[in-house]
Amino acid sequence: MIDPLIIKKQIKELGADLCGFAPIERFNEAPIGFNPLDIYKECKTVIVFAKKVPHSPLLAMNYVPYSHFNSIIINEVDALTLKIMKVFEEIDIGCVPIPSDDPYEHWESERAYGRAILSLRHAGYFAGLGILGKNTLLMNEKYGNMIQLGAVLLNIELKGDELANYEGCIPDCQICLDSCPQGALNGITVDQKACRQQSIYQTEKGYTLKRCNLCRKLCPNALGIE
Ligand code: SF4
Ligand code: SF4
Repeated sequence: MIDPLIIKKQIKELGADLCGFAPIERFNEAPIGFNPLDIYKECKTVIVFAKKVPHSPLLAMNYVPYSHFNSIIINEVDALTLKIMKVFEEIDIGCVPIPSDDPYEHWESERAYGRAILSLRHAGYFAGLGILGKNTLLMNEKYGNMIQLGAVLLNIELKGDELANYEGCIPDCQICLDSCPQGALNGITVDQKACRQQSIYQTEKGYTLKRCNLCRKLCPNALGIE
């Protein structure tokens, strides 16, 4: 029997700032095709982890620092996912790694709507890492919304972490909704097409930059829940 505490310790030593376990039953209401069992039919536990995202790039008046260092953090989480996967491979535990961001297959071009193979925000909630805010981001008590998530699906049962029991959004706050230049947020979901029109920007040379992060940056709990 594997001790969940030892697994967590090891994952943190590999570079994760947060780690939690979500038993597969918690995904029973996941949309058809987007349940961990649709990716790995032997999955019994989803391990979700996160790295803290440095907030200094948010201070820049230019889009480049945030775009560039955000993509580096995504790569770091993918590298961490591979390391965690190898740990399980070495002890013959079945596991499937999940990308921290792109790529994914589901795309509805008319409404520019994409859906990841597994919603890491929801997986993070089910693993006790935080609460979903009205800006649709997962908010952790200690690190706020400045976290980048990753996950590995395992074929062994591990005791699930308690769901976060703190409040995420500040009562009556709707700063993110009011500050979105596209009116893309309704408190539950994001209109991806409207958001993409504002936030994804291609330079003349062909670089893709993120030119909007207001719903993340202006959240009073962006760096941790007060
Ligand atoms: S990134 Fe910008 S455009 Fe997109 S939802 Fe947030 S505030 Fe709105
Ligand atoms: S800005 Fe306010 S409403 Fe939006 S996610 Fe943050 S706390 Fe919640």
